[in-house]
Amino acid sequence: MRVILASSNKGKIKEIQDILGMEVIPYKAILPDITIDENGKSFKENALIKAKTIYEALDDPEAIVIADDSGISVPALGGEPGIYSARYAGEGASDKENLAKLIQKLKEKGIKRTPAYYTAAIAIVGKGVEQTVHGWMWGDAINEARGNKGFGYDPMFVPEGFEQTLGELDESIKQRISHRSKALELAKIVLKRMV
Ligand code: IMP
Repeated sequence: MRVILASSNKGKIKEIQDILGMEVIPYKAILPDITIDENGKSFKENALIKAKTIYEALDDPEAIVIADDSGISVPALGGEPGIYSARYAGEGASDKENLAKLIQKLKEKGIKRTPAYYTAAIAIVGKGVEQTVHGWMWGDAINEARGNKGFGYDPMFVPEGFEQTLGELDESIKQRISHRSKALELAKIVLKRMV
């Protein structure tokens, strides 16, 4: 039984393997040339698009594909960057550039600290199975980057109940409270019936 992950984001792959406690194969190792058109209108739609594209391309009915679509939303910015988190500073932008853009946006609005939340939608696709689950993590977005742990927007995100950013906090704390862990706990219930 192969469990394939429809993501090539190293930060996500590590977190997902750690939380699921099983080895997952990044799709690029099997399908290096495939491109995924993330043109959905929600995290859920994009997660399903990724998982279904990979599942169909694998041509292995017994395979299980997991896809994560995630991002950060800032209500004070009308929900930005939301589903555009990975390409906020433009197509192909780096995590660093996206982080800098969100900090810049807060500064332009004169916002030092404001509520924000991460969303993770996880799609699980296999023989006769097409499921999605969600997890969220609330906290505040701040207009500076602190620490270098985690990835993406973590250095500017202070989770509820803490004063440090996810860039400063121990990774084991993020693993306990994150949007992805919460969604993966639900995904495990689906996966248990499949493997
Ligand atoms: P996706 O790979 O298309 O789902 O894009 C997710 C984007 O959202 C990433 O590029 C990150 O910028 C951001 N993101 C998602 N989850 C996290 C997280 O746990 N920490 C920091 N940034 C995240």
